[in-house]
Amino acid sequence: MKALVKRRPAEGLEMEDVPVPRIGGNDLLVKVTKAAICGTDLHIWKWDEWSRRTIRPPMIVGHEFVGTIVEMGANVTGYEIGERVSGEGHIVCGVCRSCRAGRRHLCTGTIGIGVNRDGCFAEYLSLPASNAWHVHPAIPSEIACFLDPLGNATHSALSFDVVGEDVLITGAGPIGIMAAAICRHCGAQRIVVTDVNDYRLALAERMGATLTVNVTRTSIEQARKELGIIGFDIGLEMSGNGTAFESMLESMYHGGRIALLGILPDSTAIRWDQVIFKGLVIKGIYGREIFETWYKMQTMLQSGLDVSPVLTHRFPFPEFRRGFDAMLSGACGKVILEIAEDENHV
Ligand code: NAD
Ligand code: ZN
Repeated sequence: MKALVKRRPAEGLEMEDVPVPRIGGNDLLVKVTKAAICGTDLHIWKWDEWSRRTIRPPMIVGHEFVGTIVEMGANVTGYEIGERVSGEGHIVCGVCRSCRAGRRHLCTGTIGIGVNRDGCFAEYLSLPASNAWHVHPAIPSEIACFLDPLGNATHSALSFDVVGEDVLITGAGPIGIMAAAICRHCGAQRIVVTDVNDYRLALAERMGATLTVNVTRTSIEQARKELGIIGFDIGLEMSGNGTAFESMLESMYHGGRIALLGILPDSTAIRWDQVIFKGLVIKGIYGREIFETWYKMQTMLQSGLDVSPVLTHRFPFPEFRRGFDAMLSGACGKVILEIAEDENHV
């Protein structure tokens, strides 16, 4: 089969012919139809410091996908050949305290698909059946292939009650933009989204932001004055930028709640007085709740949440380089790779 492989410890990925994965008794073999490129894949492409520490080549990359079940291990129940599935990219240990308590997103021994083991930028993917998600027929495959980052946005946005609240989202990457749409869907009052990239801020506006702020030209404070907001009730940090987080802390209302998704550099220093004297609550977000977040996002999609504007680029699998170029340019939302046709679903 064709797959995108990190063959050598260097920049880029190669399209290679590799064997179709063999499955174990509890696994599904999924014929991948569409896959989406994540920021993580871009880190692996660039071979930055994090990837050098984490990735052990050779390995097939990618973890955002939708596909069809073509083979099932002998112990698998609850799935059918031909069924359309997406899947959770975190394979949990099943035996740690968190797993046994049903809090699988807090597993202490997580293994990542496309990070620690072969991923989905391939014609076939082997996946534990316990990680698969039945995709509702109403959800098009080109949305279903990025349920993983929609899950990050959902887990963050639903961490706190946003109904009637003023929300600040720093970072209009695909996840920040989708979080804006979710907050809108769930009844937030005003949603302000910041970035340094006008292309992405325009997408955020289409997805439900009340006001967007390019912080290279104007400030959150100015936006706050314009809208008559004393301070934000909810903050979703989705840029991974220390300055953005600092400005969020300064813009929060007393008692505000913050979900931290963006991976801030270790060197990020913050003004603790902002946290302490305002009584802020800060929650770290990793991945998504397995599978409660999946349930919530699927039902929101079925009840009118529209995230389609975030999908900006589609490329046939062999043209994957163009996909990574689009991601590197920053002038994109979600970028997807079309790997195979699915005659039963759009
Ligand atoms: P992304 O890199 O596409 O988006 C980040 C955005 O922040 C970009 O549009 C960038 O222009 C913007 N930005 C940069 N500096 C800024 C500033 N000073 N103010 C406001 N915006 C600024 O990433 P994404 O895929 O949307 O993911 C969002 C963040 O979440 C990333 O940091 C990513 O690494 C992280 N992430 C975390 C998890 C998790 O489980 N915790 C999972 C996925 C992604
Ligand atoms: Zn565990």
